[in-house]
Amino acid sequence: MNFKPTIGLEIHAELKTVTKMFCSCKNDPDEKHPNMNVCPVCLAHPGTLPVANREAIHKVLKLGAALGAKLADESRFDRKNYFYPDLPKGYQISQYPHPLVKTGVLELPASPAKRGEPSGKKVRITRVHLEEDAARSVHDDKNKTTLVDFNRAGVPLMELVTEPDMTSAKEAREFAEELQLILRYLGISDADMEKGQMRVEANISVSADSKLGTKVEVKNINSFRNVGRAIDFEIKRQSGLLEKGGKVRQETRGWNDTEEKTVGQRSKEEAHDYRYFPEPDLPPLKFSGIPEFSPEILRARLPELPNQKRARFRKEYGVDDEKLEIFIRDKALSEFFEQAVSEAEKWAGEVEPKKIIELSVNYITSDLSGLLKEKKLPIAEIKTTPENFGELMKMTALGEISSRGAKDILRLMLETGEDPSEIAERDGFLQTSDAGALEEIVKNVIAQNSKAAEDYKKGKEASLQFLVGQAMREAKSRKIGANPQTLKEFFLRLLG
Ligand SMILES: [Zn+2]
Repeated sequence: MNFKPTIGLEIHAELKTVTKMFCSCKNDPDEKHPNMNVCPVCLAHPGTLPVANREAIHKVLKLGAALGAKLADESRFDRKNYFYPDLPKGYQISQYPHPLVKTGVLELPASPAKRGEPSGKKVRITRVHLEEDAARSVHDDKNKTTLVDFNRAGVPLMELVTEPDMTSAKEAREFAEELQLILRYLGISDADMEKGQMRVEANISVSADSKLGTKVEVKNINSFRNVGRAIDFEIKRQSGLLEKGGKVRQETRGWNDTEEKTVGQRSKEEAHDYRYFPEPDLPPLKFSGIPEFSPEILRARLPELPNQKRARFRKEYGVDDEKLEIFIRDKALSEFFEQAVSEAEKWAGEVEPKKIIELSVNYITSDLSGLLKEKKLPIAEIKTTPENFGELMKMTALGEISSRGAKDILRLMLETGEDPSEIAERDGFLQTSDAGALEEIVKNVIAQNSKAAEDYKKGKEASLQFLVGQAMREAKSRKIGANPQTLKEFFLRLLG
């Protein structure tokens, strides 16, 4: 039987703010020493009172604006009551009936398979609310102890909930990846899943008809790859149960990465189990009349978002879908590209700008990206300027250097920060169209070094290198552009 999966996501992201959600402790995810960023408020000492973080509220509303959502003009915090050692207050300050953001839409990127279609699938957003993160339990298996690090307690955390609009593991993964990009473009969160800054929970059900099946929630998913694997596993597990005439139990399951399966944890709790009630220590939030929280102003100040950038890169530069994502995922690399090709107009009289753009796309996504990876260097730290890179592309477009030469020059540029014409001239990468002059040089060198020429004919490979070296010197002294490869070809022809 064919079962149709229905998937909704709940995604938490730690916000990048200066301070924590309700106190003035530093919000520093990189703090290595435990319990450094703590105070009586985030440790829940008696008599302390929370104060809501304006920056965190602004960031969640900004995300709402980017998702075309309805932004609250009044909102409220609520207490979610439960016990856990990492929760010093015995409750979490969260939001329940009055979240900051309601009813948005996230549009997935149009898939390369449907090239030409203007847009991808639209996934509806139910809500985005703001809450505080819990502390971190640190388990020491050797000493059989668990210690608690409160640096994370009270860090601003947003939770985004989607409608059950996704129908495959692939779509759910795409959604999570796209949200990560949006959070990064907006500067809201670094959303690094490996560091726990973004956590994905999936609600999955399967059904043979149009009615929704019983929903299972999967937690502990720590990478995009595992979002896909955990959902695929659940779809198979639930379909298998139903096929055998069994029933799916409503529960919370955890993804076990080593065994590559989900494991039952507990029966799913309902909202009423948490005894939500309005947080009495925080006044309701009222946004009307405050410009920085006005939906119009928030919308007007949005930066370019990933889908807008995709559309622009396709249209302006004709970048194909395969290479496009390299630019979309690496902001610094795409800025380098845009600066490099902005030079292209300057040479419009000599070479078509389109040619320089095309070459730049190719060299940046393959050669430059490869070199950066090899040297473990972020683009922001290289010595090569976009202007020099643009010039290298111009020289390639004009045939002043070969494509092999361009690759070698690029490597040297990264190492020294020199400009490409300097390297090309000094190291003999310039290709001359004056074949006659080169042939004459090669003939001269053979005549003056007859022993080396004879040695090469007898099979001594090193002699050829020597001859090429002599010819390079000769070409340089006569100020004729030459490169070793071209000269080598002349020697091979003349020496047979
Ligand atoms: Zn604190």
